Amino acid sequence: MCERKVRVRFAPSPTGPLHIGGVRTALYNYLFARQTGGDFLLRIEDTDSQRFVAGAEEYITESFRWLGITFDEGAGPGGPYGPYRQSERKPVYRQYAERLLEARLAYYAFDTPGELEARRNDTPNFQYDASTRLQMRNSLTLPPEETARLLASGAQYVVRIKIEPGETIRVHDLIRGEVTVNSSVLDDKVLFKAADQLPTYHLANIVDDYLMKITHVIRGEEWLPSAPLHVLLYRYLGWEEAMPQFAHLPLLLKPEGNGKLSKRDGDRLGFPVFPLEWKDPKTGERSPGYREEGYLPEAVNNFLALLGWNPGDGREMMSMDEMVKLFSLEHCNKSGARFDYEKAKWFNRQYLVRKDNRELALLFLPLLEERHIKAPLEYVEKVAGLVKERVTFVKELWEQSSFFFIPPAAYDEKTVKKRWKADSAACLAELARLFRAQAPFDAHSTEETVKAWIESKGYHPGNVMNALRLALAGESKGPHIFYITETIGKEETIKRIQQAIATLK
Ligand code: GLU
Repeated sequence: MCERKVRVRFAPSPTGPLHIGGVRTALYNYLFARQTGGDFLLRIEDTDSQRFVAGAEEYITESFRWLGITFDEGAGPGGPYGPYRQSERKPVYRQYAERLLEARLAYYAFDTPGELEARRNDTPNFQYDASTRLQMRNSLTLPPEETARLLASGAQYVVRIKIEPGETIRVHDLIRGEVTVNSSVLDDKVLFKAADQLPTYHLANIVDDYLMKITHVIRGEEWLPSAPLHVLLYRYLGWEEAMPQFAHLPLLLKPEGNGKLSKRDGDRLGFPVFPLEWKDPKTGERSPGYREEGYLPEAVNNFLALLGWNPGDGREMMSMDEMVKLFSLEHCNKSGARFDYEKAKWFNRQYLVRKDNRELALLFLPLLEERHIKAPLEYVEKVAGLVKERVTFVKELWEQSSFFFIPPAAYDEKTVKKRWKADSAACLAELARLFRAQAPFDAHSTEETVKAWIESKGYHPGNVMNALRLALAGESKGPHIFYITETIGKEETIKRIQQAIATLK
């Protein structure tokens, strides 16, 4: 077989916001495509109109735009194999259902929802398969004339795949190795519905993977049970040669306990399970998103990539380019990946600290504007650089640095009690005079001057510094004190000292 160009797809159903697990699936597809120089497609699987949710596709597109995960083809960019929305491909599928019917690998089933319901009620674990289909109303049990008459009369029907029992079906999975399933456990899944003239997920998914020349199907573990049916469909349609390779990714597990990560875990433990905030169009309910919580997209990508894969050398911090180089499906884990929210925060902190101060300032500016604070970009840049080690999220920058922009409106009571001594006012008054004469006013020179002065006077260095910090910042935290004096400048420093003396006496 000649080597085909790698083509992978992300194929979400627009039934709501994209779960973070779906983002990981897309990311792995993206890494694989970029590494192999292949194509990455976005296909919207929207054949189930009942579950369609308005705005979901836009949400998906916006999520990937934010994360920098790009598609070469698909809904959005377009491409030679379009359209890429299944609802726009309606005329494509029918012929394949017909091909299967002609080959007797599928059949018409006329059972009404009521009949099926009744059957399910009297037979526990009822499954429509080789053991039951001859008791049902379908083209296998009805005389051919009756089937023809029903079809001509416009009766509702579905097309079901005919699965022969007792056969071992083999799925080759790049992560799990060979997975075998006995066909007897599979049911005769519906492939096509007359009611809306639309294929179900299974048929549409296979037909499109084939027509779009997909070489690898990389998707979540929840689709593993469908894989044997998909293997059969490839065979039934005569496409075995073109069957993609499968890779079913490990489940994302709850932070603690058993089972898969759910939105409820996020709500309960206080973390988002969606990339962006989502507002339910029906209920108006809002679910938090990583973007709105203040995550940097590069941190989210890095964190997600390591949920189920690692480069094997203990490395954690990786840029997208590095991950593209190092990624391998063979190194993905089979067992579930535990979701660790503290780790997500850790990654964000790492990326934030490494961010260039200018970039950080640009992220900080809108938060300052919200507070009607105008400051030159260079100033914001300097402040961001001084406090970034103290925050996990951009939105925490204000809390750590407000005193660089506005003088303290009040002084933290506890700090005052502890740090404002009987002689603090007198001492700071002296210090203000010292500052007045100080030139240049950079952190280093100022510190030298102040240290020499403290020594010559025999003052307690801690007491002086604590009182000064209280005067400048209104509290006991903040970066190195002389970085503060340098940044806010001589005039402001002296003004704040005088204000503290006047207020605290
Ligand atoms: N439409 C399916 C989903 O929502 C696609 C599964 C697959 O990748 O085959 O995830």
